[in-house]
Amino acid sequence: MFVSDNLSVNEKGNLTIGGADTVALAEKYGTPLYVMDEQMIRSALRRFHESMEKFYGGKGLVCYASKAFSCKEMCRIVASEGDGLDAVSIGELYTAVQAGFPMEKVGFHGNNKTNEELRYALENGVGHIIVDNISELHRLEALAESMGKVPHIMLRIKPGIDAHTHQFIMTGQIDSKFGFALETGEAFEAIKEAVSCKNLKLVGLHCHIGSQIFDIDPFVAAAEVMIDLMAKVSRELDYSIPGLNLGGGFGIKYLNEHDPQPFEKYLERVSAAVKAKCDEYGFDQPYIYIEPGRSIAAPAGITLYTVGARKEIPGIRTYVSVDGGMADSPRYILYGSEYEAVIANKANEERSEKVTIAGKCCESGDLIGENMLLQHAEPGDIIAVCATGAYNYSMSSNYNRLQKPAVVFVNNGESRIAVKRETLEDIVRNDV
Ligand SMILES: *Cc1c(COP(=O)(O)O)cnc(C)c1O
Repeated sequence: MFVSDNLSVNEKGNLTIGGADTVALAEKYGTPLYVMDEQMIRSALRRFHESMEKFYGGKGLVCYASKAFSCKEMCRIVASEGDGLDAVSIGELYTAVQAGFPMEKVGFHGNNKTNEELRYALENGVGHIIVDNISELHRLEALAESMGKVPHIMLRIKPGIDAHTHQFIMTGQIDSKFGFALETGEAFEAIKEAVSCKNLKLVGLHCHIGSQIFDIDPFVAAAEVMIDLMAKVSRELDYSIPGLNLGGGFGIKYLNEHDPQPFEKYLERVSAAVKAKCDEYGFDQPYIYIEPGRSIAAPAGITLYTVGARKEIPGIRTYVSVDGGMADSPRYILYGSEYEAVIANKANEERSEKVTIAGKCCESGDLIGENMLLQHAEPGDIIAVCATGAYNYSMSSNYNRLQKPAVVFVNNGESRIAVKRETLEDIVRNDV
């Protein structure tokens, strides 16, 4: 009935998430409101790390990509599951540090890390830094030397796989701002250079082929291409790279018609491919890292809004406006991303109309979605938009000087604040 199986309807006919009544949550905490289901987050993490155990003998680490949804409480949950973290800025690193996250399990990403960020990563004992380009390699080498450290690094490789076409293609992905291109030989040259850096220890290669990918084949192809590269490095440079980071990008169910592969299937097939390739080359299987972001956070979250104005334009469409919009839910205006929604206080009623859910920001494109089949919406109703746990709060802004909503975690029917709603005072906090 709903896209995420933590959503249900209670005896009052109200939508529930993780056993908590969403209408009661809206009343208690106000709207707009982000709600995250702790058990759903934990079970997604477990499905990945248990599959790593089952199909790859546990020789790997699941590193949650914190850009999908980052706050201290999220870092604590990931830490308590024993998983790692991937961070892409000093802000995400700082959040992890503040949450007491074990920093040796953190990978630091980014195509344009500043010296301040690199220094912060080294000072705080980040597990490895994923180097994106040659100038970063040189800057990091100099910084490490001056700090008397030998950080572990990986190199980000563009494996030349475009997973976003109807059938994935093996070339044509040189045009990306991330990483070293494989086809041009740039990647191999960078590896050679990294190996010769005295103050850096090359511990892995990394690739990340995209996001919201449903097909497993491109992940398998990427893993194979990367092992081929590791074999070439072993053969020609006599250097064996112990780690392989395969990135994230696993697709999730946003719409009823989406049918993602179970995460277990992904790890089963990729593990088999890695083992087969390693047997072929006769070398040890690398330690594997994966970096799921969306697949951990998105299905666990919903956003609650209160319905305000209703505008019926005869023969055109009906707008139902809510008290949030692109400031808290930017994916529609950015990429036209679609969601399922339900009127939380009428969850058992028939879906009787197709409406456009509009935000309250001063942009015509500020929509939550178009042609959404919903129960009859009236002012005061609570709308729940489903599977918004990733790339909503983390991409939110103060556009129109709106206050960012609170984030509430629910756990078996109980709720608690994880991020407070911004106040008007917060809006002018840094104004001079
Ligand atoms: C964004 C990103 C991820 C996470 O991607 P999802 O699609 O959210 O799983 C993982 N690794 C890297 C390097 C990324 O840039």
